[in-house]
Amino acid sequence: MSRFFSDKYAYLDPYTPGEQPRDRRYIKLNTNESPFPVSDLAVQEASAAFERLNLYSDPECTGLVKTAAEVFGLAENELLFTNGSDEILNFAFMAFCDDLHPAAFPDIAYGFYPVFAEINNLPYVEIPLKEDFSVDITDYFDIGKTIFLANPNAPTGIALKRAEIEQILIRNPENVVVIDEAYVDFGAESCIPLIHEYDNLLVVQTFSKSRSMAGARLGFGAGNAELIRDLRKIKYSTNPYNINSMTMAAGIGALKDREYFEKNCSIIADNRAYTTEKLKELGFSVTDSSANFIFVRHPDIGGKELYLELKERGILIRHLSKPEISDYNRITIGKLEDMETLIRTIKELLEEKR
Ligand code: PMP
Repeated sequence: MSRFFSDKYAYLDPYTPGEQPRDRRYIKLNTNESPFPVSDLAVQEASAAFERLNLYSDPECTGLVKTAAEVFGLAENELLFTNGSDEILNFAFMAFCDDLHPAAFPDIAYGFYPVFAEINNLPYVEIPLKEDFSVDITDYFDIGKTIFLANPNAPTGIALKRAEIEQILIRNPENVVVIDEAYVDFGAESCIPLIHEYDNLLVVQTFSKSRSMAGARLGFGAGNAELIRDLRKIKYSTNPYNINSMTMAAGIGALKDREYFEKNCSIIADNRAYTTEKLKELGFSVTDSSANFIFVRHPDIGGKELYLELKERGILIRHLSKPEISDYNRITIGKLEDMETLIRTIKELLEEKR
């Protein structure tokens, strides 16, 4: 820390992103990226935008918003695009939380939520999950706080049903409920259809997972026009050109290529079922995941040890050091051949240990 660094950030404990090593080739199952390339249509659209890089990007994201409004059945003023969904999540903390509206989220959830609260100097509570790692919706009834729920949750992959989230919305009419649907396309129910019924609902989605665009950084918020207007105020007070032209264009292509998107999501769901079954045969407990990752534990090998042993063998998975889940690992679902290699390697490892 330099002597110039403001005291207000001195105690900040930043988010630790998953490793992105460049030293060797790994089978990368640690940061929930898509194993598939971005759609050809996205590449075509982005290449055309490349020709116009001398100009600022469109701060209104006109073409992208129009396409997304059609795809999601929303009005254009019910959408706001951002630089990854991390950005809109941060905007939501800034816009909808303060001393009178503390943030509330599960104690085991996306690790960025407490960091967003901290950097914005906002009060927050972390609500324990049930023993089976599911969310008890009644914990959020009449809570008087701004609620952040990842659905499916991360790192567990467990999803609430739309009807359960609706109960939370009904029981908190005076508070914003943010549903982070980063992984929804892999098997959970989106809350976007509830937007016209509940003015306190903000749904957040990303192009990083199901649309293979993690490196392009594109996410969005969908909600009542007034909520979106509030978030726009934050965007235009920080960085109006928050999305670059190529990403914006690629996003349009990715949305138009519905067939490719659906095919990829369905392959991931099949590979998730395969991996779950094989790992259970090897003695793992595996959460019932609706996401593009699974959360696993083995009685004979610790989470950290499994992570390190696999890394040495060229496979990266995610180990989170939080004590309550340190026996677990989060494994991203990749291509079938990669999951087969993973299973084979784990089997050998367990045999060696015996
Ligand atoms: N929400 C959740 C639950 C996530 O796991 C992630 C990915 N780390 C994000 C949001 C942010 O994704 P991105 O900024 O790439 O859209």
